[in-house]
Amino acid sequence: MAREPKPIDELTIWDDAKAMIRKGRAEGIETVHERLAQQTPHCKFCELGTTCRNCTMGPCRISEKMPRGVCGADAHVVVARNFGRFIAGGAAGHSDHGRDLIEVLEAIVEGETGDYRITDEAKLRAIAAEVGVQTEGRAVMDVARDVMEVFYGDFGSRKKEVAFLSRVPQKRKDIWNKLGMTPRGVDREIAEMMHRTHMGCDNDAPNTLIHAARTALADGWSGSMIGTELSDVIFGTPTPRMSTANLGVIKKDQVNILVHGHNPVVSEMILAAAREPEMVAKAKALGATGINVAGLCCTGNELLMRQGIPMAGNHLMTELAIITGAVEAIVVDYQCIMPSLVQISGCYHTKFIDTAQKARFTGGIHFDIHPHNALSEARKIVEIAVNAFAERDAPRVDIPCEPVEIMTGFSNEAIIGALGGSLDPLVQAIASGEIRGAVGIVGCNNPKFKQDSMNVGLAKELIKRDILVLATGCVTTAAGKAGLLVPQAIDMAGPGLKKVCGALGIPPVLHYGSCVDNSRIMQLCAALANALGVDISDLPVGASSPEWYSEKAAAIGLYAVASGIYTHLGHPPNILGSTVVTDLAVSGLEGLVGASFFIEPDPVKTAEMFDIRIRAKRKALGLSE
Ligand code: SF4
Ligand code: SF4
Repeated sequence: MAREPKPIDELTIWDDAKAMIRKGRAEGIETVHERLAQQTPHCKFCELGTTCRNCTMGPCRISEKMPRGVCGADAHVVVARNFGRFIAGGAAGHSDHGRDLIEVLEAIVEGETGDYRITDEAKLRAIAAEVGVQTEGRAVMDVARDVMEVFYGDFGSRKKEVAFLSRVPQKRKDIWNKLGMTPRGVDREIAEMMHRTHMGCDNDAPNTLIHAARTALADGWSGSMIGTELSDVIFGTPTPRMSTANLGVIKKDQVNILVHGHNPVVSEMILAAAREPEMVAKAKALGATGINVAGLCCTGNELLMRQGIPMAGNHLMTELAIITGAVEAIVVDYQCIMPSLVQISGCYHTKFIDTAQKARFTGGIHFDIHPHNALSEARKIVEIAVNAFAERDAPRVDIPCEPVEIMTGFSNEAIIGALGGSLDPLVQAIASGEIRGAVGIVGCNNPKFKQDSMNVGLAKELIKRDILVLATGCVTTAAGKAGLLVPQAIDMAGPGLKKVCGALGIPPVLHYGSCVDNSRIMQLCAALANALGVDISDLPVGASSPEWYSEKAAAIGLYAVASGIYTHLGHPPNILGSTVVTDLAVSGLEGLVGASFFIEPDPVKTAEMFDIRIRAKRKALGLSE
């Protein structure tokens, strides 16, 4: 029987969220929390990962009483296959996003678009040099064409390794080569993962997991990395800037457009159209004071990093933002967009607009956006939003708080710039113990957790211990709302971190971008390891996805571990039905790749685990603990 929804105070740590959940319930609007209660308790077989639907001799459910599926697969094989497919899903999402950026670059190179251009030529040339493209004396478009070909090649089957392995320390590459884990091509590894998990193929759980890691590495060191790097080339490499966050960024007197999803390709055009004086004039003619473009999830992060747009919220705020009654349009691209947003939009004057052929929503208004028509279609979308302002039901509008300030825009280039042109000062700060280590806190919200309690709790615990935090994805808005993304947050940090960040005028929690931008963290780790002449697994660093929910977060976690980074998850993936798979994930991988996962739902205990790890790594490097 379905359970009752939890009391509102147990659902989230945020007052703006509580107010909107309350308003939604009063208005009869169902959100993720009510639906979770309806779906609970979940199927135990699915939770353990022991259900198989890979062929029509099944579906099969493996248990002590029924230890093998119809084909003879045991729990270990079934769990490993399911996990492998889960990782393939995540790697596919990030990497297809990366491919879309290559297609925009191609449209620029071929002169098929006037809406996009190469904004950061220096970065393009730097990337070209890294992936073996000649740059000297060559025109920018010739360089761009060759870079495009190299990256398209990364998706195929003709390479022995993907292009950005040029960034990886040799010791790490040797480990991958020995284990058969070197990613050769994004689509190749994903397709092979699906092949291996067909009935009658890879029936050795550890062997399946090695390929799952290879698939994840193709995501982290190719698909995602291409997404990040080409976004910088096309839209500009982020630099530090101030912005604001929480539902208070939605403006009562303005046309509010929320951009949601992951890829900046469409949302950058929406912002450009919304800033055109003619469009603003149309909004003013209807009684608004302007047009406000605000972000949700990772599309929001992309535009926050480069354009400084305000952030309305993270994953669990997406439904609640509409419930303010002040959103004229929510414009989406793909990933993490709850289908329920269409229904909730229908309860208000909000127009739900989808823009990708590969992510259409029944009941949404669809625009098929491509590089050749992007800005003209964006203008039509903004016009729909402007016209919707006249339909707003003013008595139903409730914007529950004032926004808080945040600092954003920390690309590796910006960090190196702030450090005077090299990583040396950072290396020295780590060596002296002022910065004892660093942890990337990444990923999502999940309604199974009290929203952002782990994301915020862990960040606070780490900075107290002089451990620098790099935040991406939905952790960003959480950290921002908690006051951790402003320079004044050094008052919550330990003395060493306070000194270093204070001198640089930066927060102790740095916003490093969207989910694909975890590749920035991988690049930084590789650069630090190369600077010290060690492997990534030797560094005093860690990764965490406290409230993760998505296949993509699992892929990120696995490529972090396979790259040698000790990685925390707030709850386990669906693997506990196999001791072989679970033992490998939480300990066995340590012996193979020098890192493993650990699972811990408590933020203080998690920080303690990182602290112990960082102390051990520092000691091994001959540094003070
Ligand atoms: S592949 Fe095997 S375990 Fe899976 S559904 Fe088919 S028979 Fe059952
Ligand atoms: S952090 Fe998670 S929930 Fe948020 S946008 Fe990324 S994958 Fe989606």
